[in-house]
Amino acid sequence: MSTTAGTLIVTGGGRGIGAATSRLGARQGYAIAVNYVENGAAASAVVTEIQRGSGRAVAIHADVSNEKEVAALFETAERTLGRVVGLVNNAGITGGFSRLEDLAAPTLERVLAVNVTGAVLCAREAVRRMSNRRGGAGGAIVNISSRAAQLGSAGEWIHYAVSKGAIDTLTIGLAREVAGEGIRVNAVAPGLVETDIHAAAGEPARPQRMAAGIPLGRAAKPEEIAEAVLWLLSPAAAYITGSILAVSGGR
Ligand code: NAP
Repeated sequence: MSTTAGTLIVTGGGRGIGAATSRLGARQGYAIAVNYVENGAAASAVVTEIQRGSGRAVAIHADVSNEKEVAALFETAERTLGRVVGLVNNAGITGGFSRLEDLAAPTLERVLAVNVTGAVLCAREAVRRMSNRRGGAGGAIVNISSRAAQLGSAGEWIHYAVSKGAIDTLTIGLAREVAGEGIRVNAVAPGLVETDIHAAAGEPARPQRMAAGIPLGRAAKPEEIAEAVLWLLSPAAAYITGSILAVSGGR
């Protein structure tokens, strides 16, 4: 495997959709910065797997909601792997199930801090490095939204859906702001994907329980989301910016 495509930062790259994206990105020639916040073992396992396949990768700790840690993430990625050409804003949490009337303010604050502030801070850092207006050589950003942004998640987690609505707005606005500076910005909006996020919310079998309501009749594998992410990052998507691609089995 050759790593000639440049460096790709995947936030939350050690598990779930992020891990699948890290693995596929490495197979497509990117050097991967596998970001994690708590599960260093999972991030290290992804790095080891990539290196065994002759790819280049490094695990980097950073809480994406922390401005200084985001700056350090990009610095470390660039220093150890080379020029950052791509960012996948994947790190995210649901905050767990709650009707809005029962929502605890600290839960809302943390979900917005990770899902919204984190994505904006990482996008800002990426633009500072990629923009040809600032001497950069361009690049691409893919934000991981959710179909929740459009469906609203009534009875489950409106607070989470709100955070993903902000991701869609970030995608549209930033795409237009930096289109003339060599940077494309898109989003992938998964439906239900088989990852740990459902267990973290207290219902590991949520994707299976809800499968009957998905037109294609099943939840997605993380690898199926990663395919769309890598395509949007690639030159094959050179004319696509500001788009939000549903990868949701029709949901
Ligand atoms: P997951 O398996 O629970 O993984 C979440 C990842 O986010 C983990 O790698 C975690 O890092 C990382 N993370 C959480 N907080 C962070 C922080 N403050 N700083 C840095 N990293 C942080 O979830 P997933 O399902 O793959 O979710 C990935 C993205 O897809 C999220 O944005 C989620 O909202 C979105 N999504 C998921 C689904 C679905 O059905 N699964 C559907 C639509 C959208 P650690 O490993 O260190 O804990």
